[in-house]
Amino acid sequence: MDDDARGTEPVEYADCVHCGEPTEHPESTKGTTLCPVCEWHEAQRTACSG
Ligand SMILES: [Zn+2]
Repeated sequence: MDDDARGTEPVEYADCVHCGEPTEHPESTKGTTLCPVCEWHEAQRTACSG
């Protein structure tokens, strides 16, 4: 049982559209991809809007 040694193929992560940092979302993700930091900022912004 050495499944940990398998699947070492690197995953291509999309870049954050705001700051260019790598996100936790794969390249195949559709739409806007944001890094955790920018996602947090976006959440704060939408939460405070209105
Ligand atoms: Zn970002």
